[in-house]
Order: sequence, then structure tokens, then C-alpha cells
Amino acid sequence: MYTLASRQERASGSRVRAGSVIFGEGFTMIAGPCAIENRAQINATARFVAARGAQMLRGGAYKPRTSPYAFQGLGDEGVLLIAQAKAASDIPCVVEALREADLPVLCKHVDMLQIGARNMQNFSLLRAAARTGKPVLLKRAASATLDEVLYAAEYILLEGNRNVVLCERGVRGFDAHTRNLFDLAGALRLKELTHLPVIADPSHATGRASLIEPVVLAAAAAGLDGAIVEVHPDPPAALSDGEQALDFPAFERLMRRLNALRHGGLPNIPLAACR
Ligand code: PEP
Ligand code: MN
Repeated sequence: MYTLASRQERASGSRVRAGSVIFGEGFTMIAGPCAIENRAQINATARFVAARGAQMLRGGAYKPRTSPYAFQGLGDEGVLLIAQAKAASDIPCVVEALREADLPVLCKHVDMLQIGARNMQNFSLLRAAARTGKPVLLKRAASATLDEVLYAAEYILLEGNRNVVLCERGVRGFDAHTRNLFDLAGALRLKELTHLPVIADPSHATGRASLIEPVVLAAAAAGLDGAIVEVHPDPPAALSDGEQALDFPAFERLMRRLNALRHGGLPNIPLAACR
């Protein structure tokens, strides 16, 4: 049994601190590009999302790409770029560790480690990430059951690192109209099973910029602990995942509506396509 992760271990929800952010208190927004591409791109994005209320910056330096011919990320140089961007905009950041060798540089410069969907059951990476003492954002693999997610979290908790946040990023479906199937009910069931915070990743779940805002609002209304969304200054020019990136005006609108939801109950906000 996943004893440490379970609600039996701890009835109330855990708080997980990453820099100035506390997951499990309100709805935490993480935003930034899929991949760090250059200094101007990460700086502009960091500045914009922080000014619009994002509490944390994201950006990939080591990218797990389906094709070996696709942009693989800037590597260590990307970590240095996001480190100065987050310092300039005064918010903490999360970056994915693809392998154990990435951990020393990440630990020096970032506030939270992401373990991506493809590595959810890379048990030696889970243990090594846990032992750094950094908080870990653990994404659900595309075909993982909820029990498998919780056992993966248990690997981290067993190392004495209690700072784990889970992320629902869509499971593999049968219909190409969305990139994956966003499993909202599964994420809510996770919250029944575990005291760990659970956030949503509508970017990888849907693969479509038009669906990000309504899925974030649904996640917030349903009681999840936050969302991580991809934002790019010029999505058509993005080196990865451009079709699911919000541009700046779309991110600004999302934050406005999220604040309306927080402060005024459920607004009647139809999908852009249905307005
Ligand atoms: C990402 O966050 O950029 C990413 C690759 O996510 P996932 O592991 O969910 O595919
Ligand atoms: Mn991405």
C-alpha cells in the first residue's frame, strides 16, 4: 500500500512549499514556455506571467521529445537562462529533470524539480530527485493508473522528501481531436486517496490553446490545487508545443477569468468557439 501518500496517513491536505509558493493553499498558477529557447523569450514570458499573477514560472531545458529530430532543449544553458529570468521577475521556477545527471545543475538554480510523464516510473530518478530535498512536481504517465501514480509518489516520500505535488496531464485516448484525455474525475479521485496537492496541466492534456482556459476554470471550480500552462510570446514560432501555447493576451484573459471565479463564484463563461 502507498502508506505515506494516503489520506489514512494524513487526513488533511498537505502544504508543499517551493520558494515563495505554497501548494495546497488556494489555486496555484504555474506558467511559462514549453521550452526555454533564448534569453529574450524566457525573460519576456517570465515578466508577463508574473505581472499577471502567475505564482511560478515553468520552462523546459532538457526536453523529452517524441522525435529525436525535434528541438531537444538548450540543456544547462537553458537552466541558467530561466534562473536569471525568475530572479528578475521575482517568482520561483520549476524545470524538468530528464535524467539523474541533470540534478546538480537544477538543484543549484531552480526551486522545484519536475518529473515528466515519460519518467513517472523511472524509479532511480524518483529516488535521486527525492534525495536532493527539492520539492517535486510529479506528472502522471500517459497510461498510468491512479495507484501507479501514488506508488511513484511513495518512492519520493520514502526517501524522506514530503514535498510532492501530483499533476494530471491527460491520459492516452482514442480521439485525435484532443492530444490526450484530461481526466478530471481521476484527478479528483486522487485527491480523495492522497493528502498531496494535485494540479492540472491542460496544455499537454488538450494540445489546443483554445481549450486551456475552460479546462483551468473547470479544475479550479472542481477544487484542484492549481494548474500549469504553457505560454509563449509568439506561439506559431515556438520550437515545441506551439499549438497548445497561450499567447500573452490569452493568458491575461485566463487570469482575469480565474480571478473572477475566485472572487465571484461561477461565472457563465462559454468556450471561445461558442460565444
Ligand atoms: C512538459 O511539461 O513540458 C512535458 C514534457 O510534460 P509531460 O511530461 O506531461 O509530457
Ligand atoms: Mn510541452
